[in-house]
Parts: sequence; structure tokens; C-alpha cells
Amino acid sequence: MPSFFKGLRIVDPNHKIVYCKRCVLSNQRPRTMFNEDGICAPCLYSEYKKTMIDWDAREKELESLCDKHRRNDGSWDVVVPGSGGKDSAYVAYVLKKKYGMHPLTVTWASSLSTTIGTQNLESFVRSGFDNLLGSPDGEVHRRLCKITFTEFGDNFLPFVYGQLNFPLQIAVKYKIPLVFFGEDGEVEYGGSLERYNKPQIDLEYTVRTKFTSLSPEHWKSFGVKMEDLKRYTSPPLADLKSTRVEAHYFSYYDNWSPEKHYDMAKIHTGFKPNPEGRSEGTYTDFASLDDKTDGFHYYMAFIKFGIGRATSDAAHQIRDSIITRDEGIDLVHQYDGEYPARYLKEFLDYMDMNMNTLNKTIDKFRRPIVWKKTNGQWNLRQQVTKL
Ligand SMILES: [Zn+2]
Repeated sequence: MPSFFKGLRIVDPNHKIVYCKRCVLSNQRPRTMFNEDGICAPCLYSEYKKTMIDWDAREKELESLCDKHRRNDGSWDVVVPGSGGKDSAYVAYVLKKKYGMHPLTVTWASSLSTTIGTQNLESFVRSGFDNLLGSPDGEVHRRLCKITFTEFGDNFLPFVYGQLNFPLQIAVKYKIPLVFFGEDGEVEYGGSLERYNKPQIDLEYTVRTKFTSLSPEHWKSFGVKMEDLKRYTSPPLADLKSTRVEAHYFSYYDNWSPEKHYDMAKIHTGFKPNPEGRSEGTYTDFASLDDKTDGFHYYMAFIKFGIGRATSDAAHQIRDSIITRDEGIDLVHQYDGEYPARYLKEFLDYMDMNMNTLNKTIDKFRRPIVWKKTNGQWNLRQQVTKL
């Protein structure tokens, strides 16, 4: 690791809450390190991207990679996982138009699709892309979402499994060795910096260790049959190796910018923002629009870590100089942790849950470092403040 990332360490999240002096992120985000000056790892990585990465050289690396895999016999030569949202649309579009690739875009279905999510996927396909939609068994998926919500405080975990593993299964099935995921969330948004300079996902490591305690197989002990978990698991390592699957992050080759992707997707793939205006819990209108249940996914991060959707949006926009830290703080105070009321009824029906059980489940995941109860009301102990 270069000196740029010197002194980074974990500040025990159960001991105290510290906020980054440059953005609005706190040490409550799992695995996120801070340096001695109180700057978070994703802010340092952002600075590293601006000052140390030779993007022209990275572009040449991407050209060579595409040259190695491109096929001109009508076959697909790259799998691009995604929903037709701005980020995956950008990746697929650039690979096709700029690098002459022939992507098979692979979508892992939402639990409860929104109208705008469905429209964006249809517009994306119509704009010139092959797409394969993987919809897992609805009864199994619903049951799994309920179990992971109740036991782990995140209804979205089954989606996360499928989003990663289903495209890998398809790559093996159709013998397409190149898979292009979007960004490396660990380095971009907070987490381990171990792979800050690596283009590929270490599949061997991922298959062996990722989600160790919470692998899809973990839910067997909650009465889910292994055969029902098959769609959520990674293909066997031997199959990934025999197909020579390489899973790359586009963010390694191209300076990741959600706003740039939004501008491109509006013009070229028919992408439309949230027709209801901003998404609940934040001030933006262009991210994560596909699933009626994802409001609770973001809300539960706020419950567990005190980090809501506005914090995540503001943190990256501060790093990209779109807003200042003070503006970000005002937005966090205004929107973070807003209750996801818009699809509450659908969420309760989907979870087969009443309000009482929902509230009890939410309260179960409030960590004492983050929350205190005063006169029967839950309040954050601390919030990000201006310097
Ligand atoms: Zn920061």
C-alpha cells in the first residue's frame, strides 16, 4: 500500500462515533478506515484517483482486455450485470459503442418492481441491448427476504447474493469469460482498501470467504432448502476456472461518476429519473429506483449505523466537488433516515408482517452507540456537524 494511505486504521465503531473531516461519512460504516487527520478511506481514495491514476493508461488496459475477448461471430463476449439503471447502462453502452463489444446484459429481478424501474429496463433493451432477466422463485425469494430482514436487519441481502452470483452463473452457462461489474463499493464508498489497485474481483477469495457468516448457505439453518438457495450461490470454483471467468470492475478503468452515467443514460438509453421527484431518504432522483422494497434496505442501514441514503449520496458528491461539506451536512440533516412510507403497505404485504412486528424488528437493530431513547422517542446520539 502506498504512503498515500498511511496511518489508516479502524476506529472501533462500538466505542465511539467519528465523522470524516472532509465528507459526512462516519466510522459506523463497516470496515471503513480513517487516517490520523480524521479523513476516511474513500475520501483518500477519491484524492488518489484525482492525482495518482493515469486514466489514459487505464483506458489502454481496457482496450487490450476488450481486444482479448472480443468476438465477431454473433456470440456474446461480455456479461454486464445490471437493471438498466444509469450505471450499468453506461458500462454496457461504452463497452458496445466505444470498444465494439457484444454485451449480454443480465438483470437479477427486483422483489417488487416499480413502474419506473420496469420502464427503464425496457427502454434500455430497446436502445440496443440483449438482456436476460433472472427472476427467482417468488415464494422462495419472499421467504428469504423476510428471514434476512428479521434475523440480519436487511431485506435486500437475497438481492445482493443474486446480483453478484446470477451473472457469474450465466457467464459459466454461456461460456462468456469476461464479466464487467460497475464499481468496487469497498474502495469507492467505504470498506477495505486492500484491492484499491486491482481491476478484478478475486473470485477465488470471494467464493471461499465472502459473506462467510452470511453466505447464502447460512440460511439453511433457518429452514431454507439448499436446492432453493442454488440461484443465490456462486457457481462452483472449478466451473469458474474451467470457463476462465474474469470479473472486472469498470471503475478501475474509467473514473466512476454517477452524474456522468446519468447524463449519458438519459441521452442514449432512454433512462428516466424518479417521476415522484427525489427518492425517500435522500435528495437525489436518479439512483436505485427499481424496487419498492429498497426504501427499507436504506432505512435499516440508518437504524444500524446511523448512515442513511442522504449520507451516502452527499459523501460521494462532496468527494466529486458537486456540493460542499457544509451543503452535504444540511442535506443529511434534512433527509437522512426519512421513513420509507411511500411503499409501506406493499412492503408489509410482501413481508407478511403487521406494523407491530415491523417496529419491533426495526428496534431490534438499533445499536446503543447510535441511538438513545428519551421520553419514549428514539433519537440519534450524534450527528455530523460543521467544522
Ligand atoms: Zn470522507
